Amino acid sequence: MNAQTKTSSAPTPSSNADFKNFVPYKPKRGEEYMSEGQREHFRNILRNWKAELMQEVDRTVTHMKDEAANFPDPADRATQEEEFSLELRTRDRERKLIKKIDATIERINQDDYGFCDACGVDIGIKRLEARPTATLCIDCKTLDEIKEKQEKG
Ligand SMILES: [Zn+2]
Repeated sequence: MNAQTKTSSAPTPSSNADFKNFVPYKPKRGEEYMSEGQREHFRNILRNWKAELMQEVDRTVTHMKDEAANFPDPADRATQEEEFSLELRTRDRERKLIKKIDATIERINQDDYGFCDACGVDIGIKRLEARPTATLCIDCKTLDEIKEKQEKG
């Protein structure tokens, strides 16, 4: 049993790379859902988001290389290793996210983006701007979460 008592004693690795710095899309009157303009809009959001995540990953690697071996004291080293492993888990999540972003861009290219995987309705620009990798409409997502909770207990 190792007591996992680390919630936030160590500074949380900065994983604030996100995609929030974009101008919300304003469809023209009568513009079709997932028009070329909209697809381009989301492609840009996803690309920028990915670029930020990749920078974040790079920064960590450099940071870890710089800091490694700077602590002769084993206790300090243990703390550092703990921080590193926390950071590595974050990077792992980010790498998965990058894969998901790639897959999402691919869907845009194949004209298969923006529609619910479960029921086929439009996911909606607003929801996609909040969650560009969403593959379910809000209703199906909610249902999904309810089911998940029920299965867990
Ligand atoms: Zn749906």
